[in-house]
Amino acid sequence: MLATDATNPAFMQRLRHRLEQHDRQGLVRNKLLREGPCQPVQRFADDDLISFCSNDYLGLANHPSVIAALQEGASRYGVGSGGSHLVTGHCAAHHALEQALAEHTGRERALLFSTGYMANVGVINALMGQGGVVLQDALNHASLLDGGWLSRARSIRYRHNDMSSLQDLLVQHQHEHCLVVSDGVFSMDGDVAPLPELTALASRYGAGLMVDDAHGFACLGATGRGVIELFPEHGGIVLSQALPVLVGTFGKALGTAGAFVAGDAALIAYLEQFTRSYVFTTAMPPALALATLASLQVSQTESWRRQRLQALITRFRQATSAMALPVLDSHSAVQAVVLGDIDETLAASAVMRDHGLQVSAIRPPTVPRGEARLRITLSAAHSDEQFDLLIRALGAIDEQYRARRA
Ligand code: PMP
Repeated sequence: MLATDATNPAFMQRLRHRLEQHDRQGLVRNKLLREGPCQPVQRFADDDLISFCSNDYLGLANHPSVIAALQEGASRYGVGSGGSHLVTGHCAAHHALEQALAEHTGRERALLFSTGYMANVGVINALMGQGGVVLQDALNHASLLDGGWLSRARSIRYRHNDMSSLQDLLVQHQHEHCLVVSDGVFSMDGDVAPLPELTALASRYGAGLMVDDAHGFACLGATGRGVIELFPEHGGIVLSQALPVLVGTFGKALGTAGAFVAGDAALIAYLEQFTRSYVFTTAMPPALALATLASLQVSQTESWRRQRLQALITRFRQATSAMALPVLDSHSAVQAVVLGDIDETLAASAVMRDHGLQVSAIRPPTVPRGEARLRITLSAAHSDEQFDLLIRALGAIDEQYRARRA
């Protein structure tokens, strides 16, 4: 029995009740125990499954050069950084990675964080305070929403990618300290934020703009600069004058872990002093910074990985356009089949498993109620055979979908 059971049974009872309710609604998520590396064929307890739900979009999590850099970093620096950045934890490896990220994103400086969650929560808190207004896209990632709620600013959500909904709010709050916040690529829908309109609106109404490109960084754009490279009207990349606060993460296309924020030197000097999730935490292991630097370099030189990913995305769109399944309009690595009903989504995930594929059923609260879905993620590492099997499994799900609605 837990100590709390003895001292306060009612307290534990309330927690149990909440968990049981969650279970009854089909919302409990169970962890799978994976053996071995993150690669298309993944080993679970008694099954080898082909994963279409990892965020390793370029296949770099298990790349020999990235592994070698991690090993080299461990020999050079040991394992832990031993301190926060502002005390003694900041090493030459961190510095080199920050410089490479600044150069890659066309910004003056970049600042490292141990996770994207910490970057988003910390940066919004540092930029905003009492009296401010955070305007969030309704489908922003939980870490951005939490950042807004944890700051003492007022958080308001505008309709997803709806610029007139955002404009109404900007007009209403134009004399306040406003920050517009958006995902670059939306993590559960896969669509892209309309950066030209976002930057124009933020500048017209004197608001700050922060974009979290966790799912676009290293994947999108000819050279992997992400969503900032997608709009040629900005002459190559959207610079910090238009988009002052750019966040990217390492746990997805770069296959490591951690995050960065990039911007003007003045912004980064400010964040370095006032971002609590930067100041009051241990710096990421320097070996990991070295591995991430190696991964960034591979992502730059092996552009065939982005091309391969794009080719698979195009083939996926073509194959599913002939199906009745409700596949959202996305040209990123994230492809969502929104079945809506939780049980139907769990059943579809089971069909995938019967085909030897791992595709998770994404349910509330990760997505809004009534929008449960299969979230399929494509990777440059998937072979043609693996991809064809995915399309066959989707075909079987499509048949059931049609039959249920006939
Ligand atoms: N932003 C977005 C859009 C994400 O999807 C995620 C992770 N799922 C994060 C931030 C958090 O990044 P990290 O995993 O590095 O904490």
